Amino acid sequence: MPEYRTEPLNVPYVSGLLPEGERDRRVALTSFRSAVPQSRVPTREVECYECGRRSHVPTSALSAGCVHCHATLNMEDVELNVGTRNLTVRTLGNVMVAPGTVLSHLSVVCRNMTVYGRVSGNIRCTQELSFRESSRVEGEVRARRLVIDRAAEVVMTEGVSVREALVEGKLAADVRAAGVIRVGREGVLRGRCDAADIVVEPGGQYIPPRN
Ligand SMILES: [Zn+2]
Repeated sequence: MPEYRTEPLNVPYVSGLLPEGERDRRVALTSFRSAVPQSRVPTREVECYECGRRSHVPTSALSAGCVHCHATLNMEDVELNVGTRNLTVRTLGNVMVAPGTVLSHLSVVCRNMTVYGRVSGNIRCTQELSFRESSRVEGEVRARRLVIDRAAEVVMTEGVSVREALVEGKLAADVRAAGVIRVGREGVLRGRCDAADIVVEPGGQYIPPRN
C-alpha cells in the first residue's frame, strides 16, 4: 500500500512581508509618478453636461468621470429611431434621429445632433444642431451652430440661442446669436433676431415680425 503524503502547503510570503526584490519592484511602479512621462493616450476636451466645466478625457473612452463634479459622463453616440422609448439623452457623443422617427418631449444634451425625423423638446448641443427634415420644436433649444437644411421647414416656438446659424431652408423662430446668422439663397428666416450680424444671400429672405 503506497504511503500517503500530503503536499506541503506552499506559503510564498510569511506575514505579509514581500521579498526584497518584489517590494522594490512595487515601490518602483508606484513611486515618482510625476517623473514618468504622461500617458500618450489621445484625449479631447469635453464640457461636462452636469456642471458645465471642462476636462480632458481619452478619445476612445465610452464613459468617463468629470474631474470637477464626479458625474459619470456618457460618451457614446446615440441613434434615436421609431423604437426609442427613453426620451432623455445625456452624452458627450453625437445624436442622430433616424428618418421616419417622430419624438416629442425629448430632453437631449449632446455634442452634434442631426435630425432626419421630427422632434420636439429641449435640445442642447455643444457643437452643431442640424435639421435635415421639417420639425416643430416646442422646448428650449441651444447650440453652438444651428443648420437648417434646404429641405427642412422648422418652427421653434420658444426660440433658439446659438453662436451662429445657417438657414438654407425655412426657419420660423426668434434667434439669439452671439455671432452671425446667415440666410442662404433659398432660405427664409421668420422671427425676431438678436445677432451680431445677419447676412442674407441673394434669393434668401429675412422677415422680421411686424410691430
Ligand atoms: Zn462636471
